[in-house]
Amino acid sequence: LASRDFHPEDTVISIGDVKIGGGELVVMGGPCAVESPEQIDEIARLVKAAGGQVLRGGAFKPRTGPYSFQGIGVEGLIMMAEAGKKHGLLTITEVMTPEYVDVCAEYADILQVGTRNMQNFDLLRKLGTCNKPVLLKRGFSATYDEFLNAAEYILAGGNPNVMLCERGIRTFETYTRNTLDLSAIPVLQGLSHLPVISDPSHGTGRRELVEPMTKASVAAGADGLIIEMHTDPDNSMTGDGVQSLFPDQFAALLQDLEKLAPLV
Ligand code: PEP
Ligand code: MN
Repeated sequence: LASRDFHPEDTVISIGDVKIGGGELVVMGGPCAVESPEQIDEIARLVKAAGGQVLRGGAFKPRTGPYSFQGIGVEGLIMMAEAGKKHGLLTITEVMTPEYVDVCAEYADILQVGTRNMQNFDLLRKLGTCNKPVLLKRGFSATYDEFLNAAEYILAGGNPNVMLCERGIRTFETYTRNTLDLSAIPVLQGLSHLPVISDPSHGTGRRELVEPMTKASVAAGADGLIIEMHTDPDNSMTGDGVQSLFPDQFAALLQDLEKLAPLV
């Protein structure tokens, strides 16, 4: 079902007036984690003002260590839904377990599967029965074939609205947090009809690399971007402040994209 052989036209996912796939560039921006009503409201305002269409933010965070901040949970979903509605943005949030799919689907417009859960088959099966679009992140050690098979689980369950997200893979390089695999963009678009989104934030782990890798992703043909932005990255509640853009950097980058995107 994910293959272009069986479905030659690009899949276009329509949510409200936003179309994902098929030519227009969608930008999702926001903090790694929802921290407070004030934080998510202010960031939503800035994402909207910069021209973004989707507010990102995690209420359930998959952390490497069990003692790290794990997200604020359902309250965070509610805060983000309110901020999205108030500022006219769609919302995307990560769901980590099958039991939380229904509540996340109640509050968010798009459900995100994190890199660590790409092969959580119970979660993928549950998402197949859900009526919300899914952004599936590539496992940090997954091949394209494994990635497309993970998408297949969701599609096979009856949910046709899946986007693929390249978020960097693990290589021998340690200077960057991950290695953003730009080739994944054209390769996946060739093998599949699903929209391909790039995540230059987790893909590099370094703020100064987000701008060039965003532009490189657009040049490679990405259908959209998911970018971390924070009003106070140095004091963010996850370690992802180091890769978060400041609001003025986010706005300047989106302005530059408006010049680039028509070329694609
Ligand atoms: C995130 O988007 O904040 C996140 C945890 O991403 P990933 O699953 O790609 O690490
Ligand atoms: Mn993050």
